Amino acid sequence: MSRNISSSRKRNDKTNPDLDEYPPPRRKSRAVKAGNVIIGGGFPVSIQSMTNTDTCDIPATVNQIHQLEEAGCEIIRVAVPNEMAAACLGQIKKQISIPLVADIHFSHKLALNAIKEGVDKIRINPGNIGDNRKVKEVARAAAEAGIPLRIGVNSGSLPEKLSKKYSHSDPRAFVTAALDEIELLEKNNFKNIVISLKSSNIACTLAAHKILAQQVDYPFHLGITEAGTEFAGSIKSAIGIGSLLATGIGDTIRVSLTADPVREIVVAKQILKALNLKKDGIEVISCPTCGRCQIDLIDIARSVEEKTRHIKTPLKVAVMGCVVNGPGEARAADVGIAGGAGFGTLFAHGEILRKVPEKELEQALLAEISRLTGEDI
Ligand code: SF4
Repeated sequence: MSRNISSSRKRNDKTNPDLDEYPPPRRKSRAVKAGNVIIGGGFPVSIQSMTNTDTCDIPATVNQIHQLEEAGCEIIRVAVPNEMAAACLGQIKKQISIPLVADIHFSHKLALNAIKEGVDKIRINPGNIGDNRKVKEVARAAAEAGIPLRIGVNSGSLPEKLSKKYSHSDPRAFVTAALDEIELLEKNNFKNIVISLKSSNIACTLAAHKILAQQVDYPFHLGITEAGTEFAGSIKSAIGIGSLLATGIGDTIRVSLTADPVREIVVAKQILKALNLKKDGIEVISCPTCGRCQIDLIDIARSVEEKTRHIKTPLKVAVMGCVVNGPGEARAADVGIAGGAGFGTLFAHGEILRKVPEKELEQALLAEISRLTGEDI
């Protein structure tokens, strides 16, 4: 029976996807410039985060932004809860080199002050910014300053009329909130817009983006709001953000974690790398280990990943437990190791370099990575 089924199945190579073209073409979106970063328009998907310092503590905020920038953050947003915080933005901006975004809720006056301080972008929340006249005023000031506005729709703060009509995880509420705000801005000839539709519900997030993507060409800032702690939130974000990116939707991403914001950058970079949307830096390919592994591979893999995170040169590094799949994977990588009994084999570009005692294996691999990338480890 099984032979009949298998013999009746016809191979059709034409239906095989060309995996070299993965991920699929990106949605065409208009290009919006925030400082020196272009969001949308086919430009690389940028990574952003948000500080969790008191914005008025300028040294602490600048210090955290520098740490985030070092980790790979390309756009930074700070909370602007009051006039004092707004007044600090100019000084913060002077000390950093990535675009600064002011996160505004409730008060359009804070948005106007932030624009005067020279920020590169404003995030406003249509659910709480107030009446249309106030939004118009912000749009006029942003147009004069030549900076974009992000319409940040969020499940926790949908406009009242929509939260009464729809449940907080109904994609129609998100799409309607965004379209209402877009209409208002467009009526005022303002089109320098980025949109985010953030729900803590993945299905809602996916549906809302897919609906809105058919109606507007503004770039999308992706994120899953209130995603959770580092482990759970990373998985939820990877599924939500990754599912959209895998269908070509998304122009900039923020992974929201209840953790040090530097971890958000680490996770965001990993999501982009997994989808082939980011090629710089070290990619560690490591096996899960099994009963054949005779070296402490878990520690070596973790340590190599940590110690090479700062490297920008693209390099594939294989860390494999044994000779079953080890040399095969290691040879396909730029450099790698395969474990043995108390020793390991070091490979580079498909060639065996040498056998190394287990306790020198990590160091030998790191030295080879350093040699190939020209970077200190
Ligand atoms: Fe097991 Fe070797 Fe495969 Fe690692 S490479 S999972 S040790 S068989």
